Amino acid sequence: MTEIIDGRALSHKIRQQLKQRTALLRARGIIPALAVILVGSDNASQIYVRNKHRAAAEVGLATQDFKFPDTTTEEELLELITKLNVDPKVHGILVQLPLPPQINAAKITAAINPIKDVDGFHPLNVGQLFLNDPQSLPCTPHGIMRLLAEHQINVAGKHVVIVGRSNIVGRPMAALLLNADATVTITHSKTSNLRELTRQADILIVAIGRAEFIKKADVKPGVVVVDVGMNRNAAGKLVGDVDFTEVEPMATAITPVPGGVGPMTIAMLLEQTVRFAERKIGG
Ligand code: NAP
Repeated sequence: MTEIIDGRALSHKIRQQLKQRTALLRARGIIPALAVILVGSDNASQIYVRNKHRAAAEVGLATQDFKFPDTTTEEELLELITKLNVDPKVHGILVQLPLPPQINAAKITAAINPIKDVDGFHPLNVGQLFLNDPQSLPCTPHGIMRLLAEHQINVAGKHVVIVGRSNIVGRPMAALLLNADATVTITHSKTSNLRELTRQADILIVAIGRAEFIKKADVKPGVVVVDVGMNRNAAGKLVGDVDFTEVEPMATAITPVPGGVGPMTIAMLLEQTVRFAERKIGG
C-alpha cells in the first residue's frame, strides 16, 4: 500500500500549535504581525494574498496590508520597506511576487531586513542556508522537509533527485537536503539524461510547472515522490508535475495535488512569522 503524504493534516496540526504560541505571545503583550505587500492586479497573487490573510487570522496573527497599483515605482516600494524594517510592531515582511517589470525584484528582496524576511529570499538568508546555518527558511522546501519528517522518511544517505532549480523551490530544497545529509542531484531543462537520473532517485522531488511530466517509467519501484507542481490540465483540473495515477502504485509514499505540498507552504509562512515574534521574548 502506498502511503499518501497528507499535507492538509500536518498543516492543520501545525496551525493548532501556532494558535497556542500566538496566545502566549499575546498574553505577554506581543501581537505577532505579518506585513504583506501586493503590487498590481495579478489575479493569482490576489488570491494567494487573501488566503494568507485568512490563514494568519485563524492562528491569531495580525496582518498589515499594503496594496499598490501596477504603476508603483521602485522608490515608493523601497520607502515602505524601509519603514517596516524598523517598525517594532512588524515581525515579518512579505512581498508577493511577481512584481511589475519596472520594479527590480532582486533589489526589493535585498532591501528587506533579513530578520523579518519570512520568505527566506534575502541573499544573506540564502547564503546562511547554504552554509548550513539557516536563520530564515524558504517556506515550500521547509514544508517538504517537515512532511518527510512527519512520515518518518529519513533523507540521510538517500539519493534525492530534484527536478527544477528555481530560487524558491529547487535550489533551497537542495541546500536543506544537503544539510540533512542527503546525496542530492539537481536537474533542470538543460539536463540531457533527466529521466535516467529520476529513475535512480530514492526520493524524487519535482518542481517544474509541467502537468503530469513524470510518468511510471521515470521512477524506480519503492520511490518516495514529492510533487510541488500546480498546473491545470487540458480538462481544467488541478494536477501536479507527476502523473499521480501512473506513479502512485510504484511509490512507497507520495504527495497528492492538491493537498500535499501546497498547504504546508502557508503553514511554514505562519510558523516562521510566529518564530520571529518569539525572538522578542527569547523564545
Ligand atoms: P520556475 O521558477 O518556473 O522554475 C521551473 C524550473 O523547472 C526551472 O528550473 C526549469 O529549468 C525547470 N523546468 C522547466 N521545464 C522543465 C523540463 N521540461 N524538464 C526539466 N526541468 C524543467 O517554477 P517554480 O516557481 O519553482 O514552480 C514550479 C512548480 O511548482 C509550479 O507548478 C508552481 O506553481 C509550483 N509551486 C508550488 C508551490 C506550493 O506551495 N505548492 C510553491 C512554489 C511553486 P531551467 O532553470 O533550466 O529553466
